[in-house]
Amino acid sequence: MAQPYRPRHVWIDRQVLGSPITANVLRQLPGVPTTVVDGPPPVPRLPQAALMSVSKKQLYLTAQKGRFVRPCPGMTSRRPAQQLCCHYTIVDLIYNCNYDCTYCYLQSYVNAPYLTVYANVEQLFAELAALLRAQPHRLVRLGSGEFSDSLSLDPLTGFSRLLIPFLRQFPNVLFELKTKSDLVDHLLDLDPQGRVLVSWSLNPPPVDPARGAQDGLAGGAPARRAALPRRRLPHWPAL
Ligand code: SF4
Repeated sequence: MAQPYRPRHVWIDRQVLGSPITANVLRQLPGVPTTVVDGPPPVPRLPQAALMSVSKKQLYLTAQKGRFVRPCPGMTSRRPAQQLCCHYTIVDLIYNCNYDCTYCYLQSYVNAPYLTVYANVEQLFAELAALLRAQPHRLVRLGSGEFSDSLSLDPLTGFSRLLIPFLRQFPNVLFELKTKSDLVDHLLDLDPQGRVLVSWSLNPPPVDPARGAQDGLAGGAPARRAALPRRRLPHWPAL
């Protein structure tokens, strides 16, 4: 089972002191130093690479100042004729991830020196209700896995234990929790009534790009030498 996340420090924005998410986190982390702040926590003076590792151990509970719910960038593409959009809707509950998947774009994308949890759930539920009531005849697909893992902090925050009962009133929703964790035990007694699903992505064994390209060519795939890393291939056909 995945190790439960334990930060070195919890920073709580005064605005979310009364949030049930804050209460859940504090209940789960006895003994972890906690500071109430009136704005973002102090930023340690460290090189960017070091800051990324440090940031994952600094948990910051604050309010979402923008919108929790927004369309996937594909919906607002400037090239709609070239792109087939699946009309996915993104829900931003957390920004940054406590895992260290080396291939993940978040490792270089996130520029905040802490792991941010947006704890003002009443705004989240208001936005979700408005979205789902406005489209009663369409199945609205949502997911919270764009800027973090959906469940790696969930035993601490208790987001899903609030979200799942809330979503039962909407027959037109499918909410996807994307995770690399196995942290689902705290959800097993809840019945999502088909409104929520948990999904996992699996990593394949490492692929040798040269071998893969040669296999592709042998199978008739239009591979190009230019797509490979700089590496000499004795039997590579000239292009
Ligand atoms: S668990 Fe997901 S979001 Fe987190 S680092 Fe890995 S790929 Fe990125």
